[in-house]
Amino acid sequence: MSPERIRPLNDQPRKASGPIVYWMQRDMRVRDNWALLHAADMTRDLQLPLTVCFMLVPSFLGATLRAYDFLLQGLQEVERDLRRLNIVFALLEGDPPEEVCRLIHQLHASALVTDFNPLRPVITWKTQVASHVDIQMVEVDAHNIVPAWVASDHQEWSAATLRRKLGRLVQSWLMEFPVLQPSAENPLQRPVDWTAVRSRLSCDETVRPVHWCTPGTQAGMRWLRHFCDEVLPSYADRRNDPTAQGTSMLSPWLHFGQISAQRVALEAQSTRAPADALQAFLEQLIVRRELADNWCLYNADYDSVAGFPTWALQTLARHAEDSRCHTYTLPQLNEEATHDPLWNAAQHNLREKGYLHGYLRMYWAKQILVWTTSADEALKDVLWLNDRYELDGRDPNGYVGAAWSIGGVHDRPWPQRPVFGSIRSMTLTGARSKFDVEKYVADSSLPAQS
Ligand SMILES: Cc1cc2nc3c(=O)[nH]c(=O)nc-3n(C[C@H](O)[C@H](O)[C@H](O)COP(=O)(O)OP(=O)(O)OC[C@H]3O[C@@H](n4cnc5c(N)ncnc54)[C@H](O)[C@@H]3O)c2cc1C
Repeated sequence: MSPERIRPLNDQPRKASGPIVYWMQRDMRVRDNWALLHAADMTRDLQLPLTVCFMLVPSFLGATLRAYDFLLQGLQEVERDLRRLNIVFALLEGDPPEEVCRLIHQLHASALVTDFNPLRPVITWKTQVASHVDIQMVEVDAHNIVPAWVASDHQEWSAATLRRKLGRLVQSWLMEFPVLQPSAENPLQRPVDWTAVRSRLSCDETVRPVHWCTPGTQAGMRWLRHFCDEVLPSYADRRNDPTAQGTSMLSPWLHFGQISAQRVALEAQSTRAPADALQAFLEQLIVRRELADNWCLYNADYDSVAGFPTWALQTLARHAEDSRCHTYTLPQLNEEATHDPLWNAAQHNLREKGYLHGYLRMYWAKQILVWTTSADEALKDVLWLNDRYELDGRDPNGYVGAAWSIGGVHDRPWPQRPVFGSIRSMTLTGARSKFDVEKYVADSSLPAQS
């Protein structure tokens, strides 16, 4: 593996006695995982055992039962896959820095490996752990095809600027993964009591699990193959039609790291999909997705209006007092109680299915800007609803999607409109010109399919 995928989080030495610990955080899978592969390489070099731990954090960024159910089922598969490779899996609960440091201490670990996540709370935990442990701690970007810090060392202005850089780099990083070999028999393996873990879980249980997608790597890989065979060939033509099921719907598995974006790209490239379909898909999967990590990595205000570009803040301020035909409170939005049938149908799908089509996510967020009293309120409402209901919520893609919709991030000024100012607007009339809005509204009132 290229050493550029790895960066140190402290300057402590690597020891040579106890196990190497991989703190799995964002990339919850065993196959196709550069962080796990790096930890396994270290154990082989030093002839040491490997322990993988995961830190279960209650109500992480407002996550509900829907998200925890997906996460825990995926982790059960991780535990099974690791057991086959004789690798110990430990599920930790409580305060992340405290528990990870305790494990390192108990095991007399030799080194700590973790995967990369640009979100603030995770950076804070890792910084605390890195400064408390007396062993080497490194971070491996197992989420992006081109490691975020290699792709760019600063916040990119737009998709175009990152696209140019990725264009030069991506083929040399888009390689096949090595296969992880089993370790020596490990007597320390103790199975996790998943029923007890679930009974202790503290989160909002009113947002129920959904059944259209099965959690875990195996199910994600099956979905990926179906997408490559059946949907990818017409992706370029149908991706913007929310009634067509023309996109991959892989975002839940990608968000939880249950499948690797690199694997998705490799599988997509190996099909006979037309070049325009493949290019359109890789633009979303690689450029847009990696741009989102760039945004969160280099902008500490990634989830607040303070992160918006100056031109957007100025135009929003100039239009702050524009009259609004309708305003809605967060409870009204949550209850799908607006005058707009398309918006209500989108919100209904978000609540019931935990998935909203990409075109509608933009429309849905932009209407919230028009119907609330400030961009600050709009952004807070969008993020609260998004992160509460979307299976793929609490993700850099969501923070950048909200900031693009409301604050012009990665976009440019457009002709002036009331309330929007020069932020790009979207309207119901515009949606009608793109797809059959009435069909979408009618379909959304049908019961959610399993
Ligand atoms: C207001 C708003 C909120 C959003 N919230 C989230 C979120 O919480 N989590 C999330 O993963 N995405 C979010 N997105 C981005 C995007 O809408 C979804 O990733 C996409 O719709 C997921 O559907 P799909 O898997 O069928 O996408 P496909 O079109 O099949 O794309 C494949 C993959 O590429 C990535 N991708 C696609 N579009 C984007 C994009 N615009 N930006 C970044 N990556 C992208 C996703 O990982 C996606 O799974 C949001 C967008 C907006 C405008």
